[in-house]
Amino acid sequence: TIKLAARVQAVKPSATLAITARAKALRAAGKDVIGLGAGEPDFDTPDHIKEAAIAAIRAGFTKYTAVDGTTELKQAVIDKFKRENGLDYAHDQILVSCGGKQSFFNLAQALLDPGDEVVIPAPYWVSYPDMVLLAGGAPVLVHAGADQRFKITPGQLKGALTDKTRLVVINSPSNPTGMGYNREELEALGEVLREFPRTLIATDDMYEHIRWSPEPFVNIVNACPELYPRTLVLNGVSKAYSMTGWRIGYAGGPAEIIKAMKKVQGQSTSNPTSISQVAAQAALEGPQECIGVMLKAFHERHDFVVERLNQIPGIECLPTDGTFYVFPKVQGAIDKLPGIANDLDFAEYLIEKAGVALVPGSAFGLNGYARISIATSRANLEQALERIAAAVA
Ligand code: PLP
Repeated sequence: TIKLAARVQAVKPSATLAITARAKALRAAGKDVIGLGAGEPDFDTPDHIKEAAIAAIRAGFTKYTAVDGTTELKQAVIDKFKRENGLDYAHDQILVSCGGKQSFFNLAQALLDPGDEVVIPAPYWVSYPDMVLLAGGAPVLVHAGADQRFKITPGQLKGALTDKTRLVVINSPSNPTGMGYNREELEALGEVLREFPRTLIATDDMYEHIRWSPEPFVNIVNACPELYPRTLVLNGVSKAYSMTGWRIGYAGGPAEIIKAMKKVQGQSTSNPTSISQVAAQAALEGPQECIGVMLKAFHERHDFVVERLNQIPGIECLPTDGTFYVFPKVQGAIDKLPGIANDLDFAEYLIEKAGVALVPGSAFGLNGYARISIATSRANLEQALERIAAAVA
């Protein structure tokens, strides 16, 4: 056997990508499986975005670009941050990467030395802890249950911060819980962070546009402007414009850190795909109505799925603030089913016996729960919920 690096052995493959691949393989083998695992909108990329990319190819815009993104795309990102978030950035404060995933990866690589701690609220996006581990850092998980709408309290944050904390991660609205922090909650977390001036903050705003909560979107820099010099704002076009395959994410933050992140990127992928950059620019600068169309569908599906889940004995689901996930408690169903010990068994049972693929909550750091993606048709959702109800009965 070949000896692999310890850092690779310390991490696991993405559970959400695994379940999606599994559902695909079962379907290819002729099994009828409804996939509720997907972390991407089921809509097509809007036409005006595709057309911009096609024109870019025809015009021969198919070569290396600046590592950190074209001047035009960076300007579109700067304009977006100003217009939608009220945040000012200069060109040396922006880095465009191959997806939001690479933005966070670059950040972890740029920041962490062995033993450096990163505070990650749980349930968390599956990739945060593993990207921290790959960088040699130590994830510090702060658990927030349904009783606190899966959001950490200032007291919990304070308890987790040490003089080794380099970074605190906030993802709002959250994958997988769908919950968002409001301004008051962010102000209270900011109050705690004020006492730890050496700690940086990463706010992952990837689901900013997929929200139905009546309050306007705010991140921690909006709530606590004094945190601007030590906050990285991470965002991208994947979810808002249904552009997951194009691989464009971006970060705004302190020039010194952006420069270090750019250095990491310059020695790994170099620039994100030139054509995708043109598409992302069209997304940010073009008409924004496409977001509303998807949002309306997600909201309707959310209302339906939450209500239907709560009718199933043994399953309890809180309504969310946004995203295309719901995160029901399934412990009651687990307890009722003979031979099913935990949420991993439960997910396995559903995929095998009911033909429904969802991701077990423990993949996100919370046992007894499951993540259901509503990024599939209403008809699929109706059928999947009938199947779950029957399998649990
Ligand atoms: N952040 C969160 C919270 C996500 O859920 C995702 C995708 O699943 C990303 C970042 C990264 O998205 P991408 O790399 O596709 O831009």
